[in-house]
Amino acid sequence: MNKKLRQQLLDLGLNVKNNEFEGIYKDYEISAGSSIASTTLKCYIFFNATDEQKQDLYNDLVHAPYKNFSFSITPFGIEFTLIIMLSFNSTVKYAFTIMDNIINTLDELHIKGKGYCPVCGESVAEEKTYLGKFICCTVHKECLNTIEQENLRQKEEYDNIPRNANKAIIFSLVGGLVTIVIAFVLSLIGFISSWSSLAGAITAISLIKRNNVKIDKTNITIVNIFIIAASLISLLLIYSISILTLINNELITFMEAIEILFEDKEFVGLFIRDVSITLGFSLFSILYTISVYNQYKRK
Ligand SMILES: [Zn+2]
Repeated sequence: MNKKLRQQLLDLGLNVKNNEFEGIYKDYEISAGSSIASTTLKCYIFFNATDEQKQDLYNDLVHAPYKNFSFSITPFGIEFTLIIMLSFNSTVKYAFTIMDNIINTLDELHIKGKGYCPVCGESVAEEKTYLGKFICCTVHKECLNTIEQENLRQKEEYDNIPRNANKAIIFSLVGGLVTIVIAFVLSLIGFISSWSSLAGAITAISLIKRNNVKIDKTNITIVNIFIIAASLISLLLIYSISILTLINNELITFMEAIEILFEDKEFVGLFIRDVSITLGFSLFSILYTISVYNQYKRK
């Protein structure tokens, strides 16, 4: 993060380390940080709530119009993830807008925050405990067991999800089509961009998540193979338009057109440049899928 943002977070009274920050914000304990690949920002707000209060909060959030946003309500608060689309700094600012709204709802529902153990709801005066790499909150020592049990339960739940590679292939195919359509439309207005492969990967992953297909190494690899293939296919499609135009204008065969184009050094240079850019941009979607995988593995 840049110096200005760092200072703003420090001014709020938060502790800041690299791309992570934690502390008390508006009377609630929060933690936030980005994945190693820096493709997502994960935020936590800790509180103790009854099942009814949690349901009210869920109903409030499930229809919220936030972009690139997913959330889950845990036994000790809420965690939400934002995909970093533009920059880390703008994503952090957006995260605070969302946190402000969530905290307003928590206040309206009279949900206990700072000073109360998020697990049992009794008052707490112990040291902060790290629950994960950058996830830290104040909780009773004996209540940590509950958190560990919840982690074990989540891990078991993950282990029990079927791999379902066939479905992963179908969803990756859909993601690949999204990549091709976006790449093609962007090329019409003169762009080759990373958005097409990233949008394809996000589509495939969200279909996989929604349909209870396992996010594991095999399925992540399937997604990446399809998205990279789709990026290259879309590039070939874009180039085939210039080949077809040449065939049409010069009344020559396909092979003759290919020969003419590949004898043109400028054309070959452009082609190699575009293939490299396309493969380079695929890196963004690969990093995104890896960070999703890491999130799941850690659970
Ligand atoms: Zn407790």
